Amino acid sequence: MKVERPVADGIVGRGMTEGGELFRTWFDRLSTAAATGEKTAYVFVMGSLVEILNVFDFPISFPEINSLQTAVRRVAHEYLNQAEDYGYSTDICGYVKADVAVQLRKGAHPMGTLPPPALAIATNACNTYVKWAEIWERLYHVPVFTLDVPGTRTADGQTWPGNADFDADCAYVAAQLRELIALCERVSGRKFDIDRLREVLGHANTMSRSWKRIIDLNRARPAVFSALTEGTVYLGVANGFRGRPEGARYFERLVEEMEYKVAHGLGTIDEEQYRLAFVGVPCYPIFRRFNEMFTEWGGVFVNSTYLWFASGGTSLGYEYDLTRPLESLAEGVLINVRQAMDAMFYTDRTLAELVEPFGLDGVVYHPIKSCRTVSTGLADSRRALMARVDIPSLFIESDMMDKRVVSEAQLKNRIDAFFEGLATRRAAALA
Ligand code: SF4
Repeated sequence: MKVERPVADGIVGRGMTEGGELFRTWFDRLSTAAATGEKTAYVFVMGSLVEILNVFDFPISFPEINSLQTAVRRVAHEYLNQAEDYGYSTDICGYVKADVAVQLRKGAHPMGTLPPPALAIATNACNTYVKWAEIWERLYHVPVFTLDVPGTRTADGQTWPGNADFDADCAYVAAQLRELIALCERVSGRKFDIDRLREVLGHANTMSRSWKRIIDLNRARPAVFSALTEGTVYLGVANGFRGRPEGARYFERLVEEMEYKVAHGLGTIDEEQYRLAFVGVPCYPIFRRFNEMFTEWGGVFVNSTYLWFASGGTSLGYEYDLTRPLESLAEGVLINVRQAMDAMFYTDRTLAELVEPFGLDGVVYHPIKSCRTVSTGLADSRRALMARVDIPSLFIESDMMDKRVVSEAQLKNRIDAFFEGLATRRAAALA
């Protein structure tokens, strides 16, 4: 049944509008930094450490997000070709190559002009991060800080405060954070201010709490947002504005919007038929069409591993203890980055736990050529999930950047067959 949507309430849809506005202000800020020579920090979404960088008021550039924007705006191929002509191989992560082309173009980007880095931060969450940051080091001779986060090493998932291994790992991360603070002081010429850190962590707490709530609210029928489309906008704000008042406010208002939609039974699509989980990174070169291939069948992505790892693990809702900001930051970084890594490498158990609360009808695996970090092992992960729960799944391959390896017709064939299977299964269950 088609749902009549209240159009004049000013609530429904504002998350998308306000998210778009925030994005534009963020790119404007970077363009201003490029024009004035303001010192900018380059970071990655997993382990960005924006909590510390915000204390020093660095403009922050996320090259992964800048790169995906070239795909969404359908110009990624121009950037990829330029980097490949320069010497980068076709099988290197497309995000890296688009960024290399941005640097070769002196920051020219569809959303503005991006400044060069004054420092860069990488973590071991993705091994490409470390090699990518070395490119900036070579191009600009800037300091690169590599944060080493000890990953989950037990079969039952990550350990928690109070566990001896966790506490040792946490002390290791805390020592690295102190080194980063000293580096930021050197680069910015400013003293570290612990009260400012408390303030930043307070805003980050509001965001993490809200982010978890929003994901939980999507258990509702119909689902109130698509983890694939709207979720990507929310993720952008979660990364770019974490620790900032406008980011905290945005997420509080987003909770209000989602609660309103749940209360009024307003779904993200009109006729929800199948509830799906998405594993991997979206197909940005044909983003809208890719999503339509599912929504045309009434399929909606109610959750995704992307919401977990691409938010740096903040989907867990970890909140910092403001009475011991630095220790708590180390703890949160350890927990969140581990959560992000586990969301890429060990998805089967978490996905199995979603089936009932989110009412999943199927799981869609989308390994991509560009990102081996996320894609390697997905076939095994799928087998492990099948061994745990009886749920249909689809395995489709394309890319997040490179339209040369995206075959829309092939995708559609596979997706149509998947939904036909879901329909048959449902009919059999009803019979
Ligand atoms: S390999 Fe994947 S996770 Fe690593 S930088 Fe590229 S897209 Fe990001």
